[in-house]
Amino acid sequence: MNDQILTSPIEYLKGVGPQRAEILKKELGIYNYSDLLNHYPFRYIDRTKFYKINEVNLDLPSIQILVRLKSFEVIGEKRTKRLIAQANDDTGEIELVWFQGISWVQKNLKLNHVYTIFGKATFFNGKTQMAHPELEIYNKNALNKGNLTLQPIYSSTEKLKQYSLDSKGIQKIITGLFDICIPQVQDQLPSYLLEKYKLFNRHQAIQHIHFPKDNNYLKKAQATLKFEELFNIQFRMLKAKMLRTQKFKGNIFNNVGDKFNYFYTNLLPFDLTNAQKKVIKEIRLDTQRGIQMNRLVQGDVGSGKTIVALMTMLLAIDNGYQTCLMAPTEILATQHYHSLKSLLRDDFVSIALLTGSTKKKERRVISENLESGHLLILIGTHALIEDPVKFKNLGFAVIDEQHRFGVEQRAKLWKKNIIPPHILVMTATPIPRTLAMTLYGDLDVSVIDELPAGRKPIETRHLFENQRLRMFGFMKQEIAKGRQVYIVYPLIQESAKLDLKNLMDGVDTMSREFPLPDYRISIVHGQLKPSEKEFEMQRFVRGETQIMVATTVIEVGVNVPNASVMIIENAERFGLSQLHQLRGRVGRGAEQSYCILMSGEKLSKDGRIRLETMVRSNDGFEIAEIDLQLRGPGNIEGKQQSGIMDLKLADLTTDQAILHEARLSVLEIFEKDPNLEMEEHQVLKTQNFNSVTGIMLNKIS
Ligand code: ADP
Ligand code: MG
Repeated sequence: MNDQILTSPIEYLKGVGPQRAEILKKELGIYNYSDLLNHYPFRYIDRTKFYKINEVNLDLPSIQILVRLKSFEVIGEKRTKRLIAQANDDTGEIELVWFQGISWVQKNLKLNHVYTIFGKATFFNGKTQMAHPELEIYNKNALNKGNLTLQPIYSSTEKLKQYSLDSKGIQKIITGLFDICIPQVQDQLPSYLLEKYKLFNRHQAIQHIHFPKDNNYLKKAQATLKFEELFNIQFRMLKAKMLRTQKFKGNIFNNVGDKFNYFYTNLLPFDLTNAQKKVIKEIRLDTQRGIQMNRLVQGDVGSGKTIVALMTMLLAIDNGYQTCLMAPTEILATQHYHSLKSLLRDDFVSIALLTGSTKKKERRVISENLESGHLLILIGTHALIEDPVKFKNLGFAVIDEQHRFGVEQRAKLWKKNIIPPHILVMTATPIPRTLAMTLYGDLDVSVIDELPAGRKPIETRHLFENQRLRMFGFMKQEIAKGRQVYIVYPLIQESAKLDLKNLMDGVDTMSREFPLPDYRISIVHGQLKPSEKEFEMQRFVRGETQIMVATTVIEVGVNVPNASVMIIENAERFGLSQLHQLRGRVGRGAEQSYCILMSGEKLSKDGRIRLETMVRSNDGFEIAEIDLQLRGPGNIEGKQQSGIMDLKLADLTTDQAILHEARLSVLEIFEKDPNLEMEEHQVLKTQNFNSVTGIMLNKIS
């Protein structure tokens, strides 16, 4: 069928050939005709809008000016070498400068010709200036041809430019492609949706994303392709979810038995918050339906997710199943182990810890007890999903701080039992709703949106370097009250050495300011062996040291209720979510807690917004939203594992409304026509299900 044209190798396209095809593959990942059709422009020049030189101001984006070239010369030697051209219009003069590609540009410049120049204009040395403008000789007639008012600009690379595949060159081959392909482009969305949302069909959308007739056409084309993009993701996710619920039976936890009841009446050291009760109820419903549960629990740091997990474990155990909890680091796993053990009063339920450093002999004992079914709760790192670990009957698995785990690992857990265990994923990184829908679109989501009663909100201050003495004074005051203090240094991934130096300088200052024997300091950083790290952490946990100097290794999950001060050095270098995570290490006890953000005087705009947000807000969801706006979804953790965030056009920060509609449309389709039997849904059958969850299903089945 006509798909064949679209999948033709790119080298067969007129004007491409083997050599350019090779470069297109390497530089842009374009292998076939369809890839090229989907290489959208990243910007458009409004060919109808020309600025005058005297209208230039710094707030303008890149603009187009019509100028006459008056003179040009190359000045300077080697590194200072540059090409400077003078040009003017009837309102003034502008200087054009090139630092690279000088000889090529020079060869092509023609004196006294009128050029269209395009770029970002600035002022320098009392002159209006444009560096590295795009330019071409003005041709009045070119404008009328084909009615193109918006000229597409395609991303290109130095390498591509050497083969004449700059933006213009790419535009040219795409134009050639259009003649052959455009009629072959098939709709992927049901036509009633196109009507409902006033979208183009796919054929028109592709046409106008490349060569929009005007701004309105462009907007409609963009809206169409964004909708399609988000629809496809939701379609695959929800389809996978549907298949999963059809395909997999779930263990049924009907029985609220002895263990659960005993714990609830005799051991639970506090009243559950309403939010905790609500989530436990949701889990109860999930686990009685006979369908495998896949639930994400989102809750801010300190909201009490652990107890929810534990009570579900007891429920599973009451129904004859084993359970496990997986944490991303050894420190965290160990801490979970100890806190669950103490909540359970040691021998109430059998519980064990399995990590990379568990000794062989102990490992064997654990294995035996797992296989015989005697061991009911296994806590561990990813060690516990490694193949040799066999459960007799795993019914429920908890994954803490999910974003550190890949989807693959989740899939491995599923395979630990014939009927896959119910899965509860807990994350303390509040994820904006939109992102959650995309990253975890196949999961059900519960939110713990309430902190346990009596928590005092953490007070956050921002201090500059010259207020350091105040910070020291404050630390001493808190330590004198018997409290403990964290001091955290940023981690620069590229330079572990520099990190360490930074940290060690900090330690030096601290040891001078807080000398033995009155003060004792723990130091934890990435260069330590796990056993050394553990040793230092434990000293702090036991209260033997009052100050913990660390890099971000302490970020997640560590619980020392007596620590009441979190100091973050170079706070401007941390992301917002990370700052919030770090702050969540304090405020876990009854005391008033504090977070002090130390920074230099000079702050970028984003840096300032981050620190101001931290001072103003304790709300993890608000912070996550702002973080998303500042960084864009591309940098949010979890993205790498998701593999679905390479959105071409849609932007999760600005296109939330589209996402919402797309998801609703998909939900409606599956409700009305789960097997896609209706005539109008036949187009959806061509979708390939090569999604993350799709892959997961394939692996399991
Ligand atoms: P997180 O959600 O960050 O994992 P934890 O489960 O570690 O939070 O709980 C944080 C602290 O709050 C723990 O010391 C825990 O015992 C305590 N906690 C949990 N739930 C409640 C509650 N309902 N009332 C009082 N304290 C609670
Ligand atoms: Mg936790």
